[in-house]
Amino acid sequence: MPKSFTNINKLIKFLKVDKKNQKKILLNSNFPLLLPYTLAKKIKKNDLTDPIFRQFVPLIDETYKNPGYTKDPLNEEKFRRSKLIKKYNSRALLITTNACLGHCRFCFRKHFEFFFNKNFDKEIDLIKKDKNLTEIILSGGDPLTLSNNDLENLLKTLDKISHLKILRFHTRYIIADPKRIDQNFLKILKNIKKQIIFVFHINHPKEIDSNLIKTIQKLKKQNILLFNQSVLLKDVNDDFETLKNLNLKLIEIGIAPYYLHHLDKIEGSKHFEVPIKKGKELIKQLHENLSGYMVPKYVREIPNKQSKTLI
Ligand SMILES: *Cc1c(COP(=O)(O)O)cnc(C)c1O
Ligand code: SF4
Repeated sequence: MPKSFTNINKLIKFLKVDKKNQKKILLNSNFPLLLPYTLAKKIKKNDLTDPIFRQFVPLIDETYKNPGYTKDPLNEEKFRRSKLIKKYNSRALLITTNACLGHCRFCFRKHFEFFFNKNFDKEIDLIKKDKNLTEIILSGGDPLTLSNNDLENLLKTLDKISHLKILRFHTRYIIADPKRIDQNFLKILKNIKKQIIFVFHINHPKEIDSNLIKTIQKLKKQNILLFNQSVLLKDVNDDFETLKNLNLKLIEIGIAPYYLHHLDKIEGSKHFEVPIKKGKELIKQLHENLSGYMVPKYVREIPNKQSKTLI
């Protein structure tokens, strides 16, 4: 894995954060700092409003307790059997790992604690028995933190299950290390018979660069469908210009906007909250200024519903 900042004091030095701004930074968090150098290099020096800074550097705000903000707002525990989460009829989500390349401060799975291993026998068994399933989502954590070898084994096993039609990755990895999708991995994907889909998690145009675009082009050559989901985040992407640029850019490079998620009420993330009213206005503005397919669906997760809920 690429090198990352894990020591907050080193990062503060690197970003030349002055004394006044340092007071706003959280020095020790249970969800530790993890920020790849490649992303840290994109952050403007001593700027707490930088969108990458806001997404990855812990702030004192995270320690505030706010009513309604809990450790498991999605009630995922209820739907989890081993490492398989099945909330919806046709698809289930496989937690392939709890590791990510960077730690997003708003992450809805940051309080994940269950025991982890790379044995999926139990989950595969559940998937085989459930004939309603047409799609498996490889999620996490981030599935691309697994080795090519592990991913190949998992994909090959899933490829053999006849009632499955689609294998989907949910990943944010490539914004920091696009070269992770190497020749070897591309070859593994090529040998899978089922339709492969990638849903990326890109929140801001600053996360897209020429290396990422090169990787996208390689995936496109292999008939892989590419989508993006973002989370609507205060002072990161909750303004018309940023969302317009992001979604236009995504289409330009061959990724279709899929979802814009309303923030889940996870403990310590209130400083990222955008009121629904504002979210709706932003979507309306996007519709008035972009082609229809460039506007993501604004959704939220309401526990016990049969799908994400359109706002
Ligand atoms: C979001 C989610 C999915 C995927 O839903 P889509 O609307 O198909 O993208 C599947 N399972 C779980 C548990 C989810 O949270
Ligand atoms: S990449 Fe996804 S799962 Fe990992 S920390 Fe970020 S939001 Fe959470």
